[in-house]
Amino acid sequence: MRAITYTRPATAQAAITAFAQAGEGARYIAGGTTLYDLMKLGIETPAHLVDVSAIEGLGSIDTGGDVLRFGGMATMADVARDRVVMERYPLLAEALGKAASQQLRNMATVGGNLLQRTRCLYFRNGASGLYPCNKREPGSGCAAIGGLDRGQALLGQSDACTAVSPGDWPVALVALDASVEVEGPDGTRTMPVADLYRMPGDTPHLEFTLRPGEIITAVMVPATAAGRRSTYHKVRDRESYAFALASAAVALEMDGETVREARIALGGVATVPWRARAAEALINGAPLTRERALATGHAAFADARPGRHNAFKIQLGAEVVADAVMIAAGRAS
Ligand SMILES: Cc1cc2nc3c(=O)[nH]c(=O)nc-3n(C[C@H](O)[C@H](O)[C@H](O)COP(=O)(O)OP(=O)(O)OC[C@H]3O[C@@H](n4cnc5c(N)ncnc54)[C@H](O)[C@@H]3O)c2cc1C
Repeated sequence: MRAITYTRPATAQAAITAFAQAGEGARYIAGGTTLYDLMKLGIETPAHLVDVSAIEGLGSIDTGGDVLRFGGMATMADVARDRVVMERYPLLAEALGKAASQQLRNMATVGGNLLQRTRCLYFRNGASGLYPCNKREPGSGCAAIGGLDRGQALLGQSDACTAVSPGDWPVALVALDASVEVEGPDGTRTMPVADLYRMPGDTPHLEFTLRPGEIITAVMVPATAAGRRSTYHKVRDRESYAFALASAAVALEMDGETVREARIALGGVATVPWRARAAEALINGAPLTRERALATGHAAFADARPGRHNAFKIQLGAEVVADAVMIAAGRAS
């Protein structure tokens, strides 16, 4: 048995101080829905837990202004059922609502969701030393490459790691150019959600760009008319309580039948939440047809590099994008 200290400060500043004082082995914990999981698997072994769930003000939801602001501790369930989010940003409500289960969403936070680690089975099931994993143990190798790679990434992978970024919510946020506010020992800063994630390269164990001791205090989404014509379309092995095999967040601004501006991001297929710029360029300015939507889907996977068992996700992913485009276009502006 390992001893773990636990504190639950009431302010962000107190949490940052507690984290710094705890030193090596300190971790923040919010809903605990993934961190406790990883502790039980022996993948995360924190010595000090600083619980950020009681920090005053971090559970707030403000959807009234030019920027939607969700406190880092707002639960996934509360944000998913916010009236403005449901009516004007269906892709956000759907990305949250199609993730995990209702019980998990009641506990899990929109800040914690951004920092969840991969579900790669070799990462999660090898802490006993059964499988090498560069993310879990830098330099040990990657059992997924040449192994059972059905769920692995087609985009953004490296020779060291092919693990998929698992979250749904970050994909929708990246499509909307959302940002996070973080507070840490050096003060407060904001950065695009997309910049929170590192490509694996040869250091796949370095997953996020947060500095030690930084807390995600808010997620901010610029208000946009494209939110209304949007969707988060997710295909998985079973229709609920499963991670994406392939997903697409799509938001459209249209002039009649013509797409003025499309925002497209992919989940379940890449090592980070993946903005599909080439696909956007193909559809922007074009009259929308199913054929054009499918060509857009294929453009999103033009750079895909499949492994042994996951090439099927190229066609699947292209169809998911095409369906998402058609669903979004069918929604009233
Ligand atoms: C069975 C199961 C199925 C799931 N299915 C899905 C799914 O389909 N789609 C999906 O997207 N997710 C899914 N999830 C993941 C789930 O959404 C996450 O576990 C949850 O969002 C994490 O939030 P949390 O508040 O519980 O984070 P925690 O577990 O408390 O923390 C997660 C990580 O974030 C850090 N952290 C937490 N909050 C902050 C903060 N404010 N600032 C800085 N660091 C912080 C912690 O140190 C930790 O490293 C599933 C989880 C389970 C267990």
